[in-house]
Amino acid sequence: MSASGLPIGIASEASFGPHPAMPMLAVGQELLIFLDLERDLCVLEQRLEWRTNYSQTLLESDDQLAPWLAQVKFPSHSVIARPATAQVGVLLKGLNTNESLADAISLCRAADPDGRVWLETDMRAHCNPTRMRSIRRLGISLVHRLRSPCPECGSPGWGLLETKPGLPCSDCGTATELTLSEIWGCQQCGARRAQPRRDGRLQADPGQCPWCNP
Ligand SMILES: [Zn+2]
Ligand SMILES: [Zn+2]
Repeated sequence: MSASGLPIGIASEASFGPHPAMPMLAVGQELLIFLDLERDLCVLEQRLEWRTNYSQTLLESDDQLAPWLAQVKFPSHSVIARPATAQVGVLLKGLNTNESLADAISLCRAADPDGRVWLETDMRAHCNPTRMRSIRRLGISLVHRLRSPCPECGSPGWGLLETKPGLPCSDCGTATELTLSEIWGCQQCGARRAQPRRDGRLQADPGQCPWCNP
């Protein structure tokens, strides 16, 4: 923004990895930030994204290749190849044709001391239509947030900040991990309000209770 001199900007960033509670599942943390220098406004929208093709694999044999490529939606989604020994320093990004992938695998295999190749999904948005759709959904949430003025200071950007767990079990009343209430707030003035779940649910199913169903 300082280079362009424009007063309004939007930036996108994400990180991907195993879900903290369920390491078998991949998850993404998508962020969009809106900046308005004239209003001194900074609004952040973020979400945990389950719909992702994020994956990595050590290519032990060529038999593994086709199933993994199908899983990660190649070639509509690009992949990255490098020698399994990362220190070699070779990294080939944005591979989205069978020819370029085959060339990259041969090159990495030749460069690796053990002849092994590491493959991973290319998560840059222009290489990953699944991520494009995630950013689109997040953009719509950001528009909703920007259209919601803060009840305290009137600044755009009123919306969900965090959720509080503790929805009680309908059978025994134990607090579960399910959302009990939502904290809405303003990122400008710091106003915060707790409110019940938007779906009106007041109790958790005993099947999701750590006491009734440990
Ligand atoms: Zn219970
Ligand atoms: Zn406010």
